[in-house]
Amino acid sequence: MTTAVTVPLATVRDLVYLLAIAGFILALKGLGSPRFARRGNQLGAAAALLAVAMTFTLPTLRHSGKNLVLALIAMVLGAIVAVPVARMVKMTAMPQLVAIFNGVGGGAAALISIIELLHLHSMGQKPAVYVTAEVLLGVLIGSVSFSGSAIAFVKLQELITGRPITYPGQQVINALVGVAIGALLIVALVTGNIAFVFVILGLALVLGLIFVLPIGGADVPVLISLLNSFTGLAVAASGFVLDNNLLIVAGTLVGASGIILTRLMSSAMGRSLPNILFSAFGAVITATGGEAGDASRSVRTGNAEDVGVLLAYARKVVIIPGYGLAAAQAQHTVRELADALMAKGVDVSYAIHPVAGRMPGHMNVLLAEANVPYDELEEMDEANAEMSTTDVALVVGANDTVNPAAHTTPGSPIYGMPIINADEAQNIIFLKRSMRPGFAGIDNELLYNSKTTMLFGDAKDTLQKLVAAVADA
Ligand code: NDP
Repeated sequence: MTTAVTVPLATVRDLVYLLAIAGFILALKGLGSPRFARRGNQLGAAAALLAVAMTFTLPTLRHSGKNLVLALIAMVLGAIVAVPVARMVKMTAMPQLVAIFNGVGGGAAALISIIELLHLHSMGQKPAVYVTAEVLLGVLIGSVSFSGSAIAFVKLQELITGRPITYPGQQVINALVGVAIGALLIVALVTGNIAFVFVILGLALVLGLIFVLPIGGADVPVLISLLNSFTGLAVAASGFVLDNNLLIVAGTLVGASGIILTRLMSSAMGRSLPNILFSAFGAVITATGGEAGDASRSVRTGNAEDVGVLLAYARKVVIIPGYGLAAAQAQHTVRELADALMAKGVDVSYAIHPVAGRMPGHMNVLLAEANVPYDELEEMDEANAEMSTTDVALVVGANDTVNPAAHTTPGSPIYGMPIINADEAQNIIFLKRSMRPGFAGIDNELLYNSKTTMLFGDAKDTLQKLVAAVADA
C-alpha cells in the first residue's frame, strides 16, 4: 500500500523562491561579461517572474479578493507605464531612467514597511523591538533613496541645474538632520510610538534631498549606483518585516552589487567616494561649455579624405569611444567604419575605458546596440598593452579618458585616474566638435601632440565622411 506524501504549499513556495534566488545569482554572474549579459538579464527577468507568480500563492493574497484585485491593478498600471518608457528611452537618457526606477523601488520598500507596522497596530499588537527596528530601517533607507533618486532624476533630466546646489550652513543643516533622525530612531525604538515613524519618514525624505543637491550632475551616475545599493538594503529590511526570505536575499544582492559598482566607478575615476559625495567637485567640472582650449597654441587639423587613406592603409587601428559617441548617436556609423576597414584587411578593435561615457558600461551597451561583436571590444589594460604597436588611435568623442594629465599632472582633477594610453600610438585622430574640454573641464595636452590630427565636427557626420573616404582609398 502506498501513502501519498503531501507537500505543504509553503514548502513549495520556499523551494521556488530558492530557485528564483539561484536565478538572480546566475543572472548577476552573466551581467559581469558583455558576452553573457543579455542571457543574464533574461534569466534575472525569468526568475523575478517566477518569484512574483509564486507570491500570488500567499494566503494574504489568495484569500483576500480585495488585495488580489489591488495587486493586479498595480501590476497592470506599472506595466502600462514602464514597458513603453523602457522601450522608447534614448541611450543618453538611461541614467535618468535608472534613477527613477530605483527611487520607485526605495519608496515602495518604505511604504511596505509602514503598512506592515500599521497592520500590526490595527490588530492591537505591540510589535517586538526587532520588528520596529526592521520597519525603521526600511523607512529610513527607502525614503532617502526615494527622494535622493528623485533629485538625481531632475538633475540628469536638466529640469534643474546640474551644478552642485550649495547654500550657507549646508554642512551644519545636513548634520542636524542626521543627528535628529538618529535621536528619533532611538526614541521610536524605546517607546514603540508609531507617530515617530512618520516624523522619521519626513526627515528621511528631507535628508535624501539635501544629500543629493550638492552633488554635480556628472557625478550623479556614481550616486545613483550608491542609492541603488540603499534601495536593495531597504528591500532586504522590508523582507525581514514581511518574513520573506526571497526579499531578504534579493535585496541583499542588490545592496552588495550596488556598493561594489559604486567602488569600481569611483576608483575608475581615480577618486574616493567621499570626494565624489562631499566635495561639490562638479561645481567646477560639469563643463559642457568650459574653456575652449589654449588659443595661443596651434593644433593640426585634417580632412576626412586624408585620414580615410591613413586608416585604410594602417595595419592596426584602435577605436577609443567616449561620451561624444553617445551624444552623436554614432554607434552604427562607427561600426560601419570598422567593417569597411576590416574588409580591407585592417586589424580593428575598440578600447573601452570603464568610465567612458556617463554611466557604467555606457560604451558596451551602445556598441552592443550596433551589434559590434564582443570579441572586438578590449578592456583598458588589454588595449594599453598593444597601444605602442597601434598605427592609429581613433578617438571618437572621448577626452578625459585619454588625457595624459592623469599620469603627468599632480593636482589635476583626473590625476591618478587610469587612462587609455592613446599617446603611445603612432598616430592619434580626434573626432570632436571643438577644443572644449570633457567632463573634468580640463585642457588635454594630447590635442596639441605632434602625432595628433583633429577632425572637427559632429562625430556621426565625420564618421560618415570617413566611411566614404575609406571606400575610395
Ligand atoms: P569626456 O566627457 O571627457 O569627453 C567627451 C567629449 O565628447 C567632449 O570633449 C566633447 O567635445 C565630445 N563631444 C560631445 N558631443 C559630441 C558630438 N556630438 N560629436 C563629437 N564629439 C562630441 O568623455 P569620456 O568618455 O572621455 O570621459 C568620461 C568622463 O565622464 C570622465 O571624466 C568620467 O570620469 C566621467 N564620468 C563617467 C561616468 C561613468 O559611469 N561612465 C559617471 C560620471 C562621470 P566637443 O564639445 O568639443 O565636441
